[in-house]
Amino acid sequence: MLPEVLLLKEFKGNDAEKLVKKCPVNVFDIEDVGNGEKKAVVSRPRDCTLCRECISGGGEENISLRRVRDHFIFTIESTGALPPEVLFTEAVKILEQKCELLISELS
Ligand code: SF4
Repeated sequence: MLPEVLLLKEFKGNDAEKLVKKCPVNVFDIEDVGNGEKKAVVSRPRDCTLCRECISGGGEENISLRRVRDHFIFTIESTGALPPEVLFTEAVKILEQKCELLISELS
């Protein structure tokens, strides 16, 4: 499921740098907001493993971590015989056939 990372408060200056360093997979970046001020932003939410390191030692009220329950990410690896887009469409056809079989068995 798609990870969702939301900052519920602004992390500026040292707080922003600490937050960026806490994340082992570099979900956060520091952005220049002008006037020499910098703040943390969520740049790569898809990379989040929900390890909860960013809220370790408190801070659960400042960062929201969850998985989006109706957004699924699939990874397709081809051995080279068929390109991934063909594998995907063939897999969907097979899944469709299985669903139809299940529905007919149920009725
Ligand atoms: S939960 Fe882990 S991977 Fe996700 S943003 Fe926080 S520290 Fe990074």
